[in-house]
Amino acid sequence: MIGSIPAIHLWERLTGELAMQMQFMEALTRSLANDYRSRGGEIFCSRGCSGCCNLVVNCTLTEAVAIAAVLDEGQAGEVDGYVERLRGVMQGVSDLKEYLSLHRRSTNGCPLLQGDGACGIYALRPLSCRALLSTRESSWCAADFAALSQEEKRAFVESLDREAVAFPMHYLAASRDAGTGLENRLTMVMAATFGFSIYGNMPLMVHLVRRHELPRVVVEGRGAVERLLASLGLDNPLLLQLEGG
Ligand code: SF4
Repeated sequence: MIGSIPAIHLWERLTGELAMQMQFMEALTRSLANDYRSRGGEIFCSRGCSGCCNLVVNCTLTEAVAIAAVLDEGQAGEVDGYVERLRGVMQGVSDLKEYLSLHRRSTNGCPLLQGDGACGIYALRPLSCRALLSTRESSWCAADFAALSQEEKRAFVESLDREAVAFPMHYLAASRDAGTGLENRLTMVMAATFGFSIYGNMPLMVHLVRRHELPRVVVEGRGAVERLLASLGLDNPLLLQLEGG
């Protein structure tokens, strides 16, 4: 209980807020994509183009709680396997670039990606996934820029529509910014409810919700969450960021 409200109702309130934001984001991204196309641009995102699913996927804890509730055991097992790979490669890593590089090489990407290239939780995919509207073919979403020649990098950067994209990335800036704004709002609502917020690696948080009762531990306070993460060897601030409390 926090005050006189049982924890389950607090989480229901947060996931209710999330459902409204998902609807808003769905309508907004459709409208932004249509607007870009009407100005002669092209959006390449479609079912099965899973390039961006190789990146680190971050979200708010509220989104992870909603995702964890709909997974079947097969999906939960994929998430567990991902977390084991992640734990294995992250020992002693404290540099963001190294994290991103190790993640790309060693985790096989998002564990919720299906064999046919479709998202296994499409209706509940995080805001950070919804926010990426690609103005380039999906191969560019999966490209390892560190492996490209200077010439190839320059050609790519010069081909971008600087007025529309979140330069030097090739994703529409307006949808990226809208996603970030909605994530910030969810983070603030969590902080106002529990005194602190958690943001970070989506599959890791889903695992913690399903296997380690993270929503209940949150009610006990930030210290209890920190102790849980330390006991699991997952207290790396590159993976999860705790703010406030
Ligand atoms: S949640 Fe879905 S859209 Fe997002 S990275 Fe995973 S498979 Fe891709």
